[in-house]
Amino acid sequence: MGEILDGKKLARELGEKLGSEVASLKEHGVSPKLCVINIGDDPASKVYVASKKRKAEKLGIKQVVYQLPADESEEDVLKLIDSLNADPEVSSLMVQLPVPPQINADRVIERIDPEKDVDCLTPANIGRLWQGKHFVEPATAAGIIALLDHYQIDLTGKNAVIVGRSNIVGKPLAALMLERNASVSILHSRSRNLADLTKQADILVCAVGKAKMIKADMVKEGAVVIDVGINRVDGHLVGDVDFAPVKEKASWITPVPGGVGPLTVEFLMEEVIKLTRRQHGLD
Ligand code: NDP
Repeated sequence: MGEILDGKKLARELGEKLGSEVASLKEHGVSPKLCVINIGDDPASKVYVASKKRKAEKLGIKQVVYQLPADESEEDVLKLIDSLNADPEVSSLMVQLPVPPQINADRVIERIDPEKDVDCLTPANIGRLWQGKHFVEPATAAGIIALLDHYQIDLTGKNAVIVGRSNIVGKPLAALMLERNASVSILHSRSRNLADLTKQADILVCAVGKAKMIKADMVKEGAVVIDVGINRVDGHLVGDVDFAPVKEKASWITPVPGGVGPLTVEFLMEEVIKLTRRQHGLD
């Protein structure tokens, strides 16, 4: 029977550490500031933006949300990014995704100064990530690695299988796991014989967004199972993993909620602090 990888508890511990890091930055006369550009009325985005704001306030990080109308032009968004790039008080900048259809998300993200790219989504920072020379990490992937580290789960030589190849979760996590010497496979919607591959995983991560798609017969006995998925079913949050039967087979497993989710917002704040320190030569 698998033990729980408690992301909520780790997030709480990390929160205390981050609070004192912000206080020590302020002693150096430095205040971290995160700017979030949210375009349009996507309800999920509003929830994410509000939760970041709450966390930032709690830690003493200044967060400014630029809430732009759904019909904002790309040109105006680019101008705003240029002005925030040029503002020395802004340590971190992100554009909440998705953006409305008249805006090209790639062009907008590429405009962010990599030194302020807190989501690690600019091509320069993604390149650095795959070269193992990164100064910022995508929050969800960083949170997963921290959770594995916290429970002393070594990745060296392990078969890590990640289901999902998005730029925000699957791909960056693969880069970080490779850095930890895992043998990494990334699966996706075109992968054939998914279960044959997931059954080989010592560490199985699912980041798809399909409720309970990972069944017990897709999991190796003793595997570590990380469930990134967040799905709303009958008013409840469930993950991509069929939790109760998979827990019987796993050695460790993350719950949903209370697993990866709480770490994501905490790690976003950690990245804000990292960028701020770097910009002020405090590393
Ligand atoms: P995306 O929709 O960007 O990516 C989903 C991935 O799943 C794609 O690579 C897709 O393949 C793959 N996929 C879809 N269907 C299947 C299938 N049947 N078999 C195998 N692979 C499949 O999602 P995100 O990465 O943004 O998010 C994934 C989930 O994680 C969501 O539930 C999201 O809410 C959650 N999430 C949770 C976070 C947290 O903090 N806990 C943070 C970020 C996301 P293809 O590329 O071929 O289309």
